[in-house]
Amino acid sequence: MLDTPLSSLIRTTKSRISTLESRGIQTLRDLLLNLPWRYADETEFGTVEQLNALEPMSVQGEVLKVSSIKTRNGKYMLRGVFSDETGKIDVMWFGQAYLKQVFAKNQKVVLTGKVKFASGKKTMVSPKVEVVKVNQDLMHSGRVVPVYHEFEQITSKWLREKIYPLLYATKFFEENLPLAIVDSFGLMPRSEALSQVHFPDNEESLQNARHRLGFEEMLVIQLGVLKRKFDLKSNFEGNAKALLIKKQWCDQYLDLLPFELTAAQQKALKEILEDVASLTPMSRLVEGDVGSGKTVVAFMAMFLTVCNKKQAMLLAPTEILALQHYKNAMKMFKDLNINAQLLTGSMTKKQKEQVKMGLRTGLIDMVFGTHALIQDTVDFKDLALAVIDEQHRFGVSQRAFIKRFGGPHMLSMTATPIPRTLALTIYGDQDLSIIDEKPAGRKEIITRAVPEKKRNEAYDWIRSQIQSGRQAYVICPLVEDSDAIESKSVTSEFARLRQDVFPDLKLALLHGKMKPKDKDQIMLDFKDQKTDILVSTTVIEVGIDVPNSSIIVIEDADRFGLAQLHQLRGRVGRGEYQSYCFLFVNSFSESTRERMRAMVNFTDGFKLSEIDLDLRGPGEVYGFRQSGIPDLKMASLTDAKLVKAAQEAAELLMQEDPTLEAFPHLLAEVYKGVKEIDL
Ligand code: ADP
Ligand code: MG
Repeated sequence: MLDTPLSSLIRTTKSRISTLESRGIQTLRDLLLNLPWRYADETEFGTVEQLNALEPMSVQGEVLKVSSIKTRNGKYMLRGVFSDETGKIDVMWFGQAYLKQVFAKNQKVVLTGKVKFASGKKTMVSPKVEVVKVNQDLMHSGRVVPVYHEFEQITSKWLREKIYPLLYATKFFEENLPLAIVDSFGLMPRSEALSQVHFPDNEESLQNARHRLGFEEMLVIQLGVLKRKFDLKSNFEGNAKALLIKKQWCDQYLDLLPFELTAAQQKALKEILEDVASLTPMSRLVEGDVGSGKTVVAFMAMFLTVCNKKQAMLLAPTEILALQHYKNAMKMFKDLNINAQLLTGSMTKKQKEQVKMGLRTGLIDMVFGTHALIQDTVDFKDLALAVIDEQHRFGVSQRAFIKRFGGPHMLSMTATPIPRTLALTIYGDQDLSIIDEKPAGRKEIITRAVPEKKRNEAYDWIRSQIQSGRQAYVICPLVEDSDAIESKSVTSEFARLRQDVFPDLKLALLHGKMKPKDKDQIMLDFKDQKTDILVSTTVIEVGIDVPNSSIIVIEDADRFGLAQLHQLRGRVGRGEYQSYCFLFVNSFSESTRERMRAMVNFTDGFKLSEIDLDLRGPGEVYGFRQSGIPDLKMASLTDAKLVKAAQEAAELLMQEDPTLEAFPHLLAEVYKGVKEIDL
């Protein structure tokens, strides 16, 4: 039944059928699984007396005295009088001439709309019309009305009209969850949920239906996550490089630091050290907002690895960041006889070969690099720890690749603040350490959206900060001027600032298209305070750490998403100095304003990511490949209760059968997801 092609079920045009097919809707099953994306609550019926100008209301009655009138601009207008038992009111429609026939037969209709004053009288203007049919519930009004995504000629109204009479067929959908789960989590049966989700009896059964279908989606994700974790551990169980953790080594490392670790750093470290001391490979994510001090934590684990005479690697998303880590390590470990090297794409073939040789023979203890590190040509003598910095820039597949280096302990770090419910989902196959505290003495960054007329004041402020010893970043979205996009190019902005605004200061230019050697030198000069202002593209977006820099100007800030703005802003406020972020925008759309408001009002990355998620949705924010999360139809990743329940259920099922073969329906769904992220 469910596999019946729509073309033989519903009467409609060929072109509609092919439009549906182009959207993957071919059979009855597909049609019923095409779920509404929102609902309009139109359960409230009113009377003519109650109609008002504030809220739309549905009224039931007849339209009388219908006439069509030609308006001044030559269009047709339909006028009539609507009446119910409480009174009469004028109605008018523009266009929609066909309604005249509908009303002619004294049909009972439901109108939904607000009241306006038109031609000096209270009037309903272009209300929604639904004809009341004998023995049939209303589809479009007087209820919780499903709203579907519309495409080409396929309107929401059309879908309602086609789906409604076929709803009975939802009873053919089989239950795909184990009954024990349905029972113990109090879920609505699948067939009922699929019917209620289209045309709910009431608000409560709608919520139950959505919960049930969301649960299903979330359960599949959670099972995928747990299965990944299970496979990872079982592949390399007992095979990992359990490290010895000597107190003397720990003290030696801590003595290298010019500061005390925060309590949050210590806690994360303790969790990491417990992991690396065990036989099971570590799979841990350290999540901490920008500037919370994740690097020193990772470096300690790398240091201990080398003390154990094993190798450690650190993977970074950009060359600049890899270089920064490498330089820091060199500085920190300079007296300790540790062989640390860099491996990036821009090195010469010969240099790369040399490093690869060192990794193979075990001559190199620690390596810092970019994607160049995760190539088939790279091999380690004894890799015991892999650190992935800014892991959100990589996908699940990079971790899978690193696993091939003999199943090392894996430590990922991210500053992408992810709502906790989501972290459990995206990173559920990793254990989570959260650094939720910044080093003492950090001051909250002051953020301002600066109106154009105050630009010069902002520049004066920057100058005064630089005169008191600070440095600044100016970020522009593009490399070179382009006609197509009107946004500040970094090259012309650099020239302008140097000539017209800060001729007395030392400015440097940085962008991704420069030669790696030059980029490195510019970064090093900035870090050594040889330059005052770094005019840059987003190549410095992640990880760059120059604590003396206390101002960041972001040009065309409307071109960046919230997560990116937060990352960029995180380049300042990394030391003891009061820091500032100045946002300049070109667009004044509502969405720009919302983002800028969020940036000004919140410095907490968690809060911002929640706002971002609300504004853009998880697919946009995290991307499927990165997160392994498919587009969700029903489940909400920020619904903590749902995520938790699905997680519990997934654990129960995994306990029963970690291969999941006992639950073929679910296993198939899980594999569908896994395949897409090529694990
Ligand atoms: P992120 O978490 O963004 O990667 P980093 O690890 O780059 O942050 O650290 C940011 C800055 O804070 C660095 O300059 C680092 O030396 C410094 N830092 C880290 N931990 C502490 C601490 N406990 N006390 C003071 N400064 C610290
Ligand atoms: Mg970092």
